[in-house]
Amino acid sequence: MKSMNLKRKCKSNMILYNTLGNTKQEFVPHEGNKVRMYTCGPTVYHYAHIGNLRTYIMEDVLEKYLRYKGYDVTRVMNITDVGHLSSDADTGEDKMVAGAKREHKTVMDIAKFYTDAFFKDCEKLNIKTPDTVEPATSCIPEFIHMIEVLIEKGYAYLAGGNVYFDTSKLENYYVFGNQNEEELQVGVREDVTEDLNKRNKTDFVLWFTKSKFDDQELKWDSPWGIGYPGWHIECSAISIKHLGEYLDIHCGGVDNAFPHHTNEIAQSEAFLGHKWCGYWFHVLHLLDKRGKMSKSKGGFLTVSLLEEQGYDPLAYRMFCLSSHYRKPLVFSFENLDNTVSAYNKLISRIAKLSKDGEIDKEDAKAYQEKFIEALDNDLNTSLALTALYDVLKADLNDATKRYLISDFDRVLSLGLIDSADALKEKDSPSGADVDVSKIDMLIAERAKARADKNWAEADRIRDELKEMGIVVKDSKDGATWEYIS
Ligand code: AMP
Ligand code: ZN
Repeated sequence: MKSMNLKRKCKSNMILYNTLGNTKQEFVPHEGNKVRMYTCGPTVYHYAHIGNLRTYIMEDVLEKYLRYKGYDVTRVMNITDVGHLSSDADTGEDKMVAGAKREHKTVMDIAKFYTDAFFKDCEKLNIKTPDTVEPATSCIPEFIHMIEVLIEKGYAYLAGGNVYFDTSKLENYYVFGNQNEEELQVGVREDVTEDLNKRNKTDFVLWFTKSKFDDQELKWDSPWGIGYPGWHIECSAISIKHLGEYLDIHCGGVDNAFPHHTNEIAQSEAFLGHKWCGYWFHVLHLLDKRGKMSKSKGGFLTVSLLEEQGYDPLAYRMFCLSSHYRKPLVFSFENLDNTVSAYNKLISRIAKLSKDGEIDKEDAKAYQEKFIEALDNDLNTSLALTALYDVLKADLNDATKRYLISDFDRVLSLGLIDSADALKEKDSPSGADVDVSKIDMLIAERAKARADKNWAEADRIRDELKEMGIVVKDSKDGATWEYIS
């Protein structure tokens, strides 16, 4: 038997859409309970935009859900700090070099700056840092080794100073099959000139020593001369270095499917001599008025820009969770505003739940099953949110509701309990459950009693408020209230 999921707490297997086969498939890891997961990391020549972060949010939910289901997940991510050219067709300028020129800094300076900025954004969005994060520039020996083996095995050739992967050596290069030509051309700019060293149009560079841009800042010695690696080799080599010969899930935005992931599969399987990765998880794009949000087009939105405009990054996370990862998501401030008001209402409803009482785990099970059912079905996060709202409406005691919300939030990571407790604390530092509208009503009734010179009633209301932990302060501008310290 290929997989023994005995240790897992959820008996059901998840159904995931796999770009390899373009169908929904039951997710069964290669080896028992272990899940080896690889994520294409950011190209750190600029801030990540909220489109990039949509992809990382949905990958984070996938990872956390697999952990929730009891899988033993190891996740690795690269940082692309060399080799990603402005055209995925191997002929543009290195994006890192262009970024360094733009800012009059060194490549390593901007790599550090934007890597740090990326992880700060991730933290604000409650995106967990993968178990291993590896910059491409720290794995040059691994890339060289892999390329040497590919040459030895006859899958790669030297031409015009560069090393190329020979795609004609493969039985099937277009592994993701039925993608349409338009999708396949994503990332390939029309203005790029053809590289005449290539034996086949689809061949790609493994190692550059010659490019029409000769101001590459970072270069390394290699058996083929001083140069730098191609973009695709980094993900194959970093994944195999940390996760071994069999990968369970490879993630990325859908624009990475071709040519990046297609080329990763070509070189990894040629190197290993067997199938490499079972499941390919691709997140559809975040769009704005101009189409796909993209770093190269400029004018994109970042987490900091959202914060400057008063948005809580977690409301953006909820915005992403409200739609399915395999549907393009259109960003507009109007749509985000709707999510903000839903998020705030959700938090205030949770804040009203009392912390007292006994959790009834038996009663909770049916609600957990609904949540699992939603996410087992190709990570349906919007239905998982519905399962969360169902808990709030349910005939359960408050303690059980809080237990379920915190359980679901292990996956959703919307900071629900913390934000609700902070709101409660803000409304009532003593931690008591306080109804602000009731206080306002009593203050108004007391003002009326005073105006009517009904001192007995005014005193009675003052005492009632005192019982609630509230002290009333009168001034010439009217009454204000605060908590009794
Ligand atoms: P990059 O930093 O350009 O290498 O991209 C980082 C990740 O963001 C990759 O997985 C891309 O596929 C993904 N990505 C790029 N643009 C978008 C977008 N507009 N919406 C969602 N994901 C995107
Ligand atoms: Zn990659």
